Amino acid sequence: MDRAAYAERIDEVLAGAHGAKVGYPIGLCAVRVLRTAPLGAGLVRITFGGEDLADFHSYVPDEHVRLVFPDEEGVLRLPSRDGLSLEWGSPRPVSREYTVRRFSAADRELDIDFAIHRGGLASEWALTAAPGTPMHIAGPPGGVVVPKTYDAYLFAGDITALPAIARWLEWLPAAATGWAFIEVTGPEEEIPLAAPAGVRVRWVHRGAAEPGTGDALEQAVRTVEVPAGQRVYVWLAGESGVLRPLRRWVRTELNVGPKDFLIAGYWKRGVADYDRDE
Ligand SMILES: Cc1cc2nc3c(=O)[nH]c(=O)nc-3n(C[C@H](O)[C@H](O)[C@H](O)COP(=O)(O)OP(=O)(O)OC[C@H]3O[C@@H](n4cnc5c(N)ncnc54)[C@H](O)[C@@H]3O)c2cc1C
Repeated sequence: MDRAAYAERIDEVLAGAHGAKVGYPIGLCAVRVLRTAPLGAGLVRITFGGEDLADFHSYVPDEHVRLVFPDEEGVLRLPSRDGLSLEWGSPRPVSREYTVRRFSAADRELDIDFAIHRGGLASEWALTAAPGTPMHIAGPPGGVVVPKTYDAYLFAGDITALPAIARWLEWLPAAATGWAFIEVTGPEEEIPLAAPAGVRVRWVHRGAAEPGTGDALEQAVRTVEVPAGQRVYVWLAGESGVLRPLRRWVRTELNVGPKDFLIAGYWKRGVADYDRDE
């Protein structure tokens, strides 16, 4: 049987010189919460399970899904299947984006780590979810595939980026080198990370400042000096305003080309369900 086009494309990107997004067939899974557990003081890990996960696609560290919630009237509107994709329709179903932290095809289990904050639909849901609570999960639409042959990797973000950074660090070869900067409130939000010995992990403490404010992360990341001639891959995610100066720094001071970085605004202060494409 021919291999699926997305699997061939993943292999092609892994064997190439630069990173690229690769699309997968997009499904919708009806799942239930199997268990929940705190992960440090800032995250709640929810493990979902269900037979629908037999068709779930997960191959690389940077993959996200959309969790679908009932609207304000309590009506659950779901996207409908449309070939190998989903049709979201209008009014659009209420959803939030989260990283696939772990997927086990054998156990049909999916872990998602939720950052807990005040006044968030998904965050509040995660705090009250219990074994048996139902959820619909759409995606992932694809993954960010990155060759393992860069000289160095630079990861940075806030606690919403921590699930993806944790997955990147587990995925890198043992000989990989680089840096990972994670902004959290304080030591109570730090979690164990399985990083290659050559990747320096630095926790940046924001202290009393509100999430998504200040320049602590920017100042920490700016200390990175990439030796001349080294090829670096840069991955940054977090509050969109906090990332703005780093976006400029990556392009103009680190001189990283567009195929060698991914910078994603994961949320924006004061905006519910922030849409990166707006
Ligand atoms: C590709 C992608 C992957 C992501 N992966 C993860 C993940 O694995 N784990 C994770 O926790 N988040 C992740 N996020 C971020 C998450 O989607 C947003 O934080 C989202 O707004 C949370 O939804 P909510 O319903 O809790 O809050 P919303 O209802 O969307 O927002 C309500 C209010 O809370 C504010 N707010 C939103 N997030 C935060 C926050 N973290 N801290 C403080 N205030 C906030 C908003 O500005 C708004 O004012 C990801 C986002 C993207 C785009």
